[in-house]
Amino acid sequence: MTTATRPTSTATSAEWNPVFDELGFPKDPDNLYLQTVEVLLNAAEMLGLPHRVKIILAQPQSEIMVHFPVRMDDGHHRLFKGYRVQHNNALGPYKGGMRFHPDVHLDDVKSLALLMTMKCSLVRIPYGGGKGGVKCDPRQLSRAELERVTRRFCSAIYHYIGPDYDIPAPDVNTNAQVMAWFADTYCSLAEANKNTWDSVRVVTGKPVEMGGSLGREKATGQGVVDTLVELLPSLGINVNGMKYSLIGFGNVGSWTGRILQKLGARLVAVMDHTGALRNDNGFDCEALAAHVAQTGGVGGFAASGPGGGGTSISTEEFYKTKVDVLIPAALEQMIKDREAAWIDAKVVAEGANAPTTPAGDRVLQKRGIEVVPAILANAGGVTVSYFEWVQNKTCMTWNEEEVDRKLNQHMVMAARRTILARQKFGCDMRTAAYIAALENIAKVYSVRGIWP
Ligand code: NAD
Repeated sequence: MTTATRPTSTATSAEWNPVFDELGFPKDPDNLYLQTVEVLLNAAEMLGLPHRVKIILAQPQSEIMVHFPVRMDDGHHRLFKGYRVQHNNALGPYKGGMRFHPDVHLDDVKSLALLMTMKCSLVRIPYGGGKGGVKCDPRQLSRAELERVTRRFCSAIYHYIGPDYDIPAPDVNTNAQVMAWFADTYCSLAEANKNTWDSVRVVTGKPVEMGGSLGREKATGQGVVDTLVELLPSLGINVNGMKYSLIGFGNVGSWTGRILQKLGARLVAVMDHTGALRNDNGFDCEALAAHVAQTGGVGGFAASGPGGGGTSISTEEFYKTKVDVLIPAALEQMIKDREAAWIDAKVVAEGANAPTTPAGDRVLQKRGIEVVPAILANAGGVTVSYFEWVQNKTCMTWNEEEVDRKLNQHMVMAARRTILARQKFGCDMRTAAYIAALENIAKVYSVRGIWP
């Protein structure tokens, strides 16, 4: 058994953990998977997690990679690459989103799957972690091509997943419609599940008409807001009247914005793949969401009609905009050391998965900027996915009020668990959230054991 030097209480000391050598990790500091495991192992060291649990969690249980042909509208065929990574199922079925993006790579999917294991454990829902995706640019696909990519991907992986084994959900560039095509294909293929209604449980985030849950579409944004409402007062920030900025105005960003607006917060800067905008009086998030739905991005909103306003700014100006809270809700690794040095905020709340690199994290810590980590802040989506699955399993439907109330309970308890771990271990919030998640997984391994 190898032993690591006990890390300091910072989340991301740049130590080379001996487990990396033991498992043959590449020594690339920019590798997202290495960065994700580094945070996990630091927390595991502090908690005194047994070596066997550390090495189990440092690699996924399965990495599935498929290639599948799809007929394009012009009649020719293109070959697509898809992934499904099943990180851990000690607590329950593998669970995690499915993303369609040109930058989908195996190591990124592995990282996101690991984060799902941690997230589900932190909010105490009976799921493990998984993630998947297809390397493609959905903006370049017609609706019919998108449907065929979805159905062909499902047919390529359907025997690796299942309603009680591995349950995908929406993520970047996928939505309820994509889930509906996926579930429909699965129901037609899965021989073991003759009851097709039961088979739709194979995905969550479905349209409500097809067994989806009320409140699921906005759930991740709602969870971000629930977490902020619980944590910000102790950091000296009142949500009513606070100024904040958003990176990404897709599902997570736009719902976070719309819900925060109702609580009196002001969105003063927003950035997505089409540009960055600033409005010191605060954007109308409902009007901005309508603009994005129509045009595909925030760019051009400044000059647009009702609810428009503000000015176009550079990326650097966006990060330097003074706010109480900055909420990254787009892609991974967007806050590196350079961006972290630019940020003028008291708190960074990670709506996106892994938006801050360890180097960025160190700069934020040095500058006294609090980070609410992704495994806590964005856990609302998977929590309501779990509610959807429970409703499907029990043939019940819950109203939106009930969903929101139950979600709030999970988010508040997860936030409190994180704060308790932080006080007990004297560490930052990211490490504390991992510790609170790992404690739960460690208990399961100690009672289940490893057999044979
Ligand atoms: P989405 O596809 O709805 O939105 C993605 C957003 O990112 C868009 O606004 C897009 O313009 C923006 N973006 C893309 N490239 C960018 C760039 N280079 N610069 C700035 N902005 C860029 O995706 P989503 O579902 O909102 O997911 C966003 C993040 O939240 C991801 O990290 C995802 O894994 C995470 N997440 C999503 C859910 C969910 O329920 N959808 C749950 C938990 C976590």
